[in-house]
Amino acid sequence: MMELVVVDGRARGIIARNLVTGDLERYAAHAVVLATGGYGNIYYLSTNAMNSNGSAAWVCHKKGAAFANPCYVQIHPTCIPVHGDYQSKLTLMSESLRNDGRIWVPKKKEDAEAIRRGEKGPNDIPEEDRDYYLERRYPAFGNLVPRDVASRAAKERCDAGYGVGSTGLAVYLDFADAIQRLGRDVVEQKYGNLFQMYQKIVDVDPYENPMMIYPAIHYTMGGLWVDYELQTTIPGLFAAGEANFSDHGANRLGASALMQGLADGYFVLPYTMQNYLADQIYVGKISADTPEFDQAEQDVRNRLQTLLNIKGDTAAHADPSTHTVDHFHKALGKIMWEYVGMARNTESLTTAQKLVADLEGQFWKEVFIPGTADEFNPELEKAYRLADYFELARLIITDAMHREESCGGHFRTEHQTEDGETQRDDENFMYVAAWEYQGHDVTETMTKEPLNYEHIKIAKRNYK
Ligand SMILES: Cc1cc2nc3c(=O)[nH]c(=O)nc-3n(C[C@H](O)[C@H](O)[C@H](O)COP(=O)(O)OP(=O)(O)OC[C@H]3O[C@@H](n4cnc5c(N)ncnc54)[C@H](O)[C@@H]3O)c2cc1C
Repeated sequence: MMELVVVDGRARGIIARNLVTGDLERYAAHAVVLATGGYGNIYYLSTNAMNSNGSAAWVCHKKGAAFANPCYVQIHPTCIPVHGDYQSKLTLMSESLRNDGRIWVPKKKEDAEAIRRGEKGPNDIPEEDRDYYLERRYPAFGNLVPRDVASRAAKERCDAGYGVGSTGLAVYLDFADAIQRLGRDVVEQKYGNLFQMYQKIVDVDPYENPMMIYPAIHYTMGGLWVDYELQTTIPGLFAAGEANFSDHGANRLGASALMQGLADGYFVLPYTMQNYLADQIYVGKISADTPEFDQAEQDVRNRLQTLLNIKGDTAAHADPSTHTVDHFHKALGKIMWEYVGMARNTESLTTAQKLVADLEGQFWKEVFIPGTADEFNPELEKAYRLADYFELARLIITDAMHREESCGGHFRTEHQTEDGETQRDDENFMYVAAWEYQGHDVTETMTKEPLNYEHIKIAKRNYK
């Protein structure tokens, strides 16, 4: 899907591009359901499939659908660490591993340094020199603290110089105790497939050595704003699953994402769409042969051609790879991870704002896309999405900047307790921030949807 078609204020179809032939196709309908997933790939490296992307939601946003809480991004603590510049994806080791695995780093910096230099291995570190930092900081929950807490604690240890692996951006997830307590057979029955996957990727036997893990982008709680009928602010446009913002609040603590997707698709939409369509009973077949479809298709064609016409001057740089779409995508991901990732503050967000704007400007001048629009052209596909990511990245930053509190996946370093825990500001920020597009380079307007809790008492999270 490349574009949403809105007729008289209602969603009436889409423009899609046939990825094999490059043909633009029109689809007309009484209503449109978007189920295109989250926007984690803005960070380039994530646990998401490369095809899950926020681009379709973003084009709907530009057509008038409000986008809610974009700054709430979930970071998962148990991923296989980044191992180089040429990978496009991160592998998630299942959350279940934290049931029996114990997370630690060396207590002594010199041990961590020796491990990073390859002079020591984890099994050279005696028990008394290991810091099981989650068990130490959160005795009640230990290794089972929520994802955001475990992720930040790993970052804190690595930033403080205790990280392991060649990059220092990894912590150990150790099953030695579990194997001793339960026996290798039981551990194999419970986690054998995951251990095998780890060994295949890292070439280290996790029965003999602790695994190495590090947090990675995993799920996006923000998305298109929807009401209880899953309808966006464009009548007739519905959003389901990770593409919408609903159910998961700031942290995806309350519900399973897959259950939400299933509930949206099986139980909610079949009924709520009927409510919408009941009102449309006298509207005849929607034609795709209208000025609105002509215009939407032409807009897509123009944008594709504009991208192709850039033809970044590859001769101008010694390294032609600096003109590829992936080069810009990786650079965007690095900015977002570094400045808008697990910890944010006014300074980092201001830096990100400038870096993203500069990179976007550079992209529109320097990217080189081979081929044409009328053929199978994955570079063109990626570029079309990346152009949207730049804009969505800017909204994520704006939202993160305005939310002067730490809440769930959004951690502002200015707003933390003395012992480094999140500090919410319920008095001023207990609302959903729904943003409305105003044009490129124009600050979006924000509407606050207050969160009214009638049946539960709001409390601070405490895992100590
Ligand atoms: C590794 C991993 C493990 C997970 N484990 C769990 C778990 O154990 N439990 C749990 O509850 N959740 C889990 N999740 C989260 C959960 O899987 C996702 O939130 C859920 O699958 C999202 O479903 P969805 O249908 O909304 O979107 P997706 O599954 O992302 O599907 C979106 C689809 O839309 C397509 N698409 C995107 N853009 C376009 C476009 N422009 N045009 C046409 N098609 C488009 C994509 O190709 C894709 O097929 C996990 C996620 C990952 C990445």
